[in-house]
Amino acid sequence: MNKEINLIIKPEFVDKYKNGYPLISQEAISDFSKVGDEGVILNLINSKNSFIVKGYYGKQNKGFGWILSSSKDEKIDVDFFISKIKSALKYREDFYADESTTTFRVFNGEGDGIGGLTIDFYDGYYVVTWYSIGIYEFRDDILEALKQSVDYKGIYQKKRFDAKGMYLDEADDFLFGQKAPEPLVVKENGVNFAIYLDDGAMVGVFLDQKEVRKTIRDKYAKGKTVLNTFSYTGAFSVFAACGGSKKTTSVDLAKRSLPKTKEQFEVNNIDANSQDIIVEDVFNYFKYAVRKKLLFDMVVLDPPSFARSKKHTFSASKDYVKLLKEAIQITNNGGVIVASTNSANFSMMTFRDFIKKAFYQLKGKYKVEESFSLPKDFRVNPKFKEGDYLKVVFIRKLK
Ligand code: SAH
Repeated sequence: MNKEINLIIKPEFVDKYKNGYPLISQEAISDFSKVGDEGVILNLINSKNSFIVKGYYGKQNKGFGWILSSSKDEKIDVDFFISKIKSALKYREDFYADESTTTFRVFNGEGDGIGGLTIDFYDGYYVVTWYSIGIYEFRDDILEALKQSVDYKGIYQKKRFDAKGMYLDEADDFLFGQKAPEPLVVKENGVNFAIYLDDGAMVGVFLDQKEVRKTIRDKYAKGKTVLNTFSYTGAFSVFAACGGSKKTTSVDLAKRSLPKTKEQFEVNNIDANSQDIIVEDVFNYFKYAVRKKLLFDMVVLDPPSFARSKKHTFSASKDYVKLLKEAIQITNNGGVIVASTNSANFSMMTFRDFIKKAFYQLKGKYKVEESFSLPKDFRVNPKFKEGDYLKVVFIRKLK
């Protein structure tokens, strides 16, 4: 059982927590020095000693922990986690029933009532991701709750925190049941993905882009030339090819992206040799494309929030306008730029301003066709809209 302590919330924050705000921030607490070790259960009380809410201490870039319950007598035990997981499963009944999609998010942190924890489903295999030492301290109860709540082929975990040698003796990614085949082939809207559950932090696909991929395939790709930048394993290219694109060009700096992208085409019976897969810095590729006067009907931009390569540092909040300007120059008139970012540092409004600025500076015209945020399985807590980090805009370049 994890230890419990009382902490006093500053008066000006009491209403916020009473109203369901899920993130524990340091500035809301009067005396944080008393907090102790990560994983401690925090009873947040007001200055008159009345209980307000209950949470746990776990340091993430976002804050110092997450609220778990507004009930004073709530025990944070296996039954508590079972009830959270069961309601998350119920919310996703449609996903389980859909045979054309066998991979999705089952539990999305604070959106499902437990910040710092996500669970993804890959055709019978579950991957639990821990985002702090604090939440990892609850692992025995959470894993037990998961085992009691789902039929699983196997369970894996990913630790997304820096534990500096703690837990070194513990099992790594694979935990229970059977090991998955390598690759494990899963489906998203009828398209196959080759997934590796035991190969580091990333398994081969980012599940939050499913609606964007489907939209590219169903509405935009037919007959078009597509440039996919920051392409990783080429998921956008594969969907474009499945939608009948004329040709896709995938560009990523990581050497692994080449065999990985080939494989994603191959598991969909598309000849990878009919597509271009280029290992290069995207910013060099833009220069090359301008020099060669290459023009594309569709350009996908999906950079990381922050990246450092040999020659360039890219930060989405500072450099997205520049990135858009590069893309605009190599997009055909009438063509579409899919601008995406997972940066939580700025809003959709700011992102729309970046787009406006880029076209204004190039004296170009455009029209926003549609935009996307997180899909339904990436459930967002209505009291924590910041949790919806994804912003994707389909922009048509006009003459
Ligand atoms: N769009 C991908 C996910 C991108 S992840 C998808 O839908 O699956 C970010 C990718 O950007 C990583 O694969 C990383 O290798 C690549 N990357 C980072 N900086 C880069 C640069 N300067 N040029 C090319 N690729 C870069």
